[in-house]
Amino acid sequence: SSTSQQEFDYLFKLLLIGDSGVGKSTLLLSFTSDTFEDLSPTIGVDFKIKHVTLGGKKLKLAIWDTAGQERFRTLTSSYYRGAQGIIMVYDVTRRDTFTNLADIWAKEIDLYSTNQDCIKLLVGNKVDKESERVVSKKEGIDFAREYGCLFLECSAKTRVNVEQCFEELVLKILDTPSLLSEGSSGVKKNIFKESPPQNDASTTGCCSS
Ligand code: GDP
Repeated sequence: SSTSQQEFDYLFKLLLIGDSGVGKSTLLLSFTSDTFEDLSPTIGVDFKIKHVTLGGKKLKLAIWDTAGQERFRTLTSSYYRGAQGIIMVYDVTRRDTFTNLADIWAKEIDLYSTNQDCIKLLVGNKVDKESERVVSKKEGIDFAREYGCLFLECSAKTRVNVEQCFEELVLKILDTPSLLSEGSSGVKKNIFKESPPQNDASTTGCCSS
């Protein structure tokens, strides 16, 4: 398509992680298209491309979604490899999705993330269901402080704060020189055209120190 030919200054690989049902696919769809749909679950890692201009830079965002694989705990190092940004999503109406971020997902990030300075954003989703909320905003803030993440609450359904999630993450990446170098997979110019960066041996050196 003509979209894939668009010029850009940086390519960023962003990941969505978190328990099944927290709204990762909906968040991605909400950001990359204009409609909210009740998604039927699909299996297999997938990604979407979005071109944005932020901080004066033309960016090509390859945003990866687990698309159900997380249910089988089969996300592997290749999913995480070369990511500049990770969005850790929980559902503010389900406490287990919040505690699993610390118990499971944060550990997996430490294990597999190849960019040491990779930016993490904690996202509490489904704030439109305020009457069913069980995880307070304060708890989110405290978690983010402890794990060194950015933090936002949003609704993928009403689209409140959805753009802000991606913008905050990307602006922080742009503010982190080590994530913009050639050694990271923040590949400059049109090297990346048809497929997302993965299994690139040149990115694995980033975690060696
Ligand atoms: P995933 O498994 O993490 O990808 O979650 P999905 O995106 O498939 O969402 C799981 C369910 O939650 C679906 O029925 C969505 O329609 C619903 N959902 C996702 N985001 C929101 C939200 O912000 N508010 C509400 N009320 N429902 C949502």
